[in-house]
Amino acid sequence: MIPYGRQDITQDDIDAVSEVLRSDYLTQGPAVPRFEAALTAATGAAHAVAVNSATSALHIACLALDLGPGDRLWTSPNTFVASANVGRLCGADVDFVDIDADTFNMDPAKLAAKLETAERDGTLPKVLMPVHMCGQSADMEAIGTLARRYGIRVVEDASHAIGGSYKDKPVGACPHSDITVFSFHPVKIVTTAEGGAAVTNDPELAARMDRLRSHGVTRDADLMTTESEGGWYYQMLELGLNYRMTEMQAALGVSQMGRLASYVDHRAALADRYDDVLGELPLDRPGRLPDAGSSWHLYVIRVAAERRREVFDHLRASGIGVNVHYIPVHTQPYWQAQGFRPGDFPESETYYSRAISIPVFGTMTEDQQDEVVARLREML
Ligand SMILES: *Cc1c(COP(=O)(O)O)cnc(C)c1O
Repeated sequence: MIPYGRQDITQDDIDAVSEVLRSDYLTQGPAVPRFEAALTAATGAAHAVAVNSATSALHIACLALDLGPGDRLWTSPNTFVASANVGRLCGADVDFVDIDADTFNMDPAKLAAKLETAERDGTLPKVLMPVHMCGQSADMEAIGTLARRYGIRVVEDASHAIGGSYKDKPVGACPHSDITVFSFHPVKIVTTAEGGAAVTNDPELAARMDRLRSHGVTRDADLMTTESEGGWYYQMLELGLNYRMTEMQAALGVSQMGRLASYVDHRAALADRYDDVLGELPLDRPGRLPDAGSSWHLYVIRVAAERRREVFDHLRASGIGVNVHYIPVHTQPYWQAQGFRPGDFPESETYYSRAISIPVFGTMTEDQQDEVVARLREML
């Protein structure tokens, strides 16, 4: 089976994790800050807060922005369910902005129109969460400009996009957002097994997320409401969680981050090659946003909707581990029970009816890619 994505674990990774296991700290030691330093170095953001998943990072990002009951979060229907779930976990209402048919990302024109209506109705969101689908940045300048105009905070769900760029800056530099979140699940670009992080340029948001990942507790005397009672003393300032990343995960992450650029270069070369060789087949290749450098977490082709299932089944049966990203979130039973209906976000639904994610990963060979193309050609 050639999977649609796969982690790459080297002897260096194994040695880095083993070293932690023999050390004094399995959690709350020096490896997590080291991993956070690797993330700020790679993204240009001022601060990084590493946690046990991107879902956790999205959750504390929204909590740090004071998203709560009576507020609204808007995201893309074309995402993993977690992006929308964190809004509900904060007690907020969630709505969606449909995608651009070519880039599969939140469409700034549809966002502008929806914001105009929401302003009239008094239903503007507090937080916007664009998703960088497949590793290609959403049009953040347009989205950020709209967000500023309406006084809305922005969290980038860059779970797919570490190593990507937008207008000559790394994704995560946050020029148009408050916080950017990455995932380190094994299928993503670099992995810590489970894991995620939030990066920001705002020291107060960073401090708040740092506290929220660890029970809302501080040992910083400056933040305490009374004098410290001694060396053991801490205070819980707000309701927090245990979303901490372990030292083993962080050590794996530091080791993996050393290969981020080479993974992304390799994925980009595979994507260019797919673009070349798939041009003659009756399918649509992914559209590219000018000024965005994708990390190519996914390469999604679109075939005729009537043939999608047949093509998918043939590829799976031929040992090609294709997948589909994503079932539009608003069509899930949970969201249907919240009042959404099929047809609410037609561009995402059309996209979904035609999409197949074909294999692309950091160690994929050209022979494997030729095999994928040959099996596709058979069907199309
Ligand atoms: C993977 C993913 C998440 C969740 O990441 P975890 O680290 O598994 O919690 C959220 N949003 C998107 C778009 C993702 O692809």
